[in-house]
Amino acid sequence: MITRMSELFLRTLRDDPADAEVPSHKLLIRAGYVRPIGPGLYSWLPLGLRVLRKIEKIVRDEMNSIGGQEILFPALLPKAPYEVTNRWTEYGDGVFRLQDRRRNDYLLGPTHEELFTLTVKGEYSSYKDFPVLLYQIQTKYRDEARPRAGILRGREFIMKDSYSFDVDDEGLRAQYDAHRDAYQRIFANLGVRYVIVSAVSGAMGGSASEEFLAESDIGEDTFVRCVQSGYAANVEAVITAVPPSPPIEGQPEAKVYDTPGTPTIATLVEWANSALDREVVAADTLKNVVLKVRVPGGEWELLAVGVPGDREVDEKRLAAALDPAEHALLDDADFAKHPFLTKGYIGPKALLANGVRFLVDPRVVDGTSWITGADEPGKHVVGLVAGRDFVADGTIEAAEVRDGDPSPDGAGPLVSARGIEVGHIFQLGRKYTDAFAADVLGEDGKPIRLTMGSYGIGVSRLVAVIAEQHHDELGLRWPSSVSPFDAHVVMANKDDAARAGAAELASQLDRLGVEVLLDDRKASPGVKFKDAELLGVPWIVVVGRGWADGVVELRNRFTGETQEIAVGNAASDISAALAG
Ligand code: ATP
Ligand code: MG
Repeated sequence: MITRMSELFLRTLRDDPADAEVPSHKLLIRAGYVRPIGPGLYSWLPLGLRVLRKIEKIVRDEMNSIGGQEILFPALLPKAPYEVTNRWTEYGDGVFRLQDRRRNDYLLGPTHEELFTLTVKGEYSSYKDFPVLLYQIQTKYRDEARPRAGILRGREFIMKDSYSFDVDDEGLRAQYDAHRDAYQRIFANLGVRYVIVSAVSGAMGGSASEEFLAESDIGEDTFVRCVQSGYAANVEAVITAVPPSPPIEGQPEAKVYDTPGTPTIATLVEWANSALDREVVAADTLKNVVLKVRVPGGEWELLAVGVPGDREVDEKRLAAALDPAEHALLDDADFAKHPFLTKGYIGPKALLANGVRFLVDPRVVDGTSWITGADEPGKHVVGLVAGRDFVADGTIEAAEVRDGDPSPDGAGPLVSARGIEVGHIFQLGRKYTDAFAADVLGEDGKPIRLTMGSYGIGVSRLVAVIAEQHHDELGLRWPSSVSPFDAHVVMANKDDAARAGAAELASQLDRLGVEVLLDDRKASPGVKFKDAELLGVPWIVVVGRGWADGVVELRNRFTGETQEIAVGNAASDISAALAG
């Protein structure tokens, strides 16, 4: 079927929408792919929907190829299953809740682990029924704190979510690996430049977890990578390279100094450089940050985190390291309750003597010597050696990661970059099957608890991500795999014979299986070319002045190259060029 621009439901806009922050958002609106309806809510117009459907098909084909079976859950869900897993509460403001006319609670599904687990438990009861892989391509709802950049972070969006069920860990690993491979094929086919980063598991619980991040300066996720080895990880997942342990023997004894007015690292370093006859830097000091932490359902407890003084505690890394416990800074009442905490002068001694759990940065290996608080106002201790003068309760990955830090694999320095999460694969394990006691009978007649994986792809987000990675100052430039059309035929000659010839060429292309957009409008060639560049179909066929000389022009929207094609064989030559 040929789509005629004279009939297509489309108005392109000359100017960028006022509230659009990023290029993909501006272009998708200007080119008439999507329209805003409310914060984080968008409608899909014909062109946008065609791109969305193409992405869906690529995802669906790959899911089917690894044995996935498509099902579809309602988006409107009863509260009960989400109460069993406590997510009704845990999701906080992130979930849309509503009541029916009988005052029963419902939610609009943000993700569907509960329903899939219950469904598999309801249907299957024997180990013989496994492995199982189910998926859906469905609308999800999340009341995002900051809906952003149009369909990039919507409050209603389309996700492919799949869930694997296995009777053993090997089965889970095999399904995880199959997803990993399928995702690589999907993103390659979509023309997305991406990295796979190891991720720490957040609110979902579980173990092995990786994210697929599309490389983009406008991304909200920071990751680090090592150019030499290809190592890449979310900042939360970076494991600190541990330095070798210096020998303890022969190190001078720790000594307490009066250091009046040195509650900050900067003032302490200044004091040390004038009082000690050696050069001291912030990294020689140990900063002890005291927090309170609470495991779900538990009481607040003190926790001290010791990091080299040249580094801040990274909020995200700290939260990931403590998960599922939450944490908070101490307030004045907390300090009053624990007088051994001397603000600005907290040291390992008082922490350990008072039973405060004390976790240190992995760089604080045995034999390292520190300048740190001496637990009295205006006093610090110099030469406090780890493993000799104090023994921490363990290590914690909470210090900030910086450009230039060594990669954990020792291959070179880390550099940071930004990305947009387009996919997430996750070995959940038994978190949800435990919650619902999802057991099946094993070969020996004993019950087996199922183990589970969950795997998401941001299908609607991908439309924006691809637009973000593939555009220029003139407009969109779709990869052929997702373009709303294969060829954009522009009638740029008012002559009746040329118009008829263009229509005939479009029909011939159509018969050859090329999806054609035909610009048959009564507008000037200039307007039509501008729109063709804005819409971003990868091949533009111009039936213009050359018609009289027996040629049409074929333009490649991506490279900008043009070639003249003889009218006689135009349809087959063009379809060959498109396929090439
Ligand atoms: P993000 O960190 O970007 O909020 P997430 O960790 O919440 O993502 P998942 O719960 O793993 O994401 O969801 C699976 C996929 O759904 C994500 O990889 C992402 O591509 C997509 N996605 C998540 N939230 C949104 C949203 N608000 N709008 C569009 N797509 C989204
Ligand atoms: Mg999110």
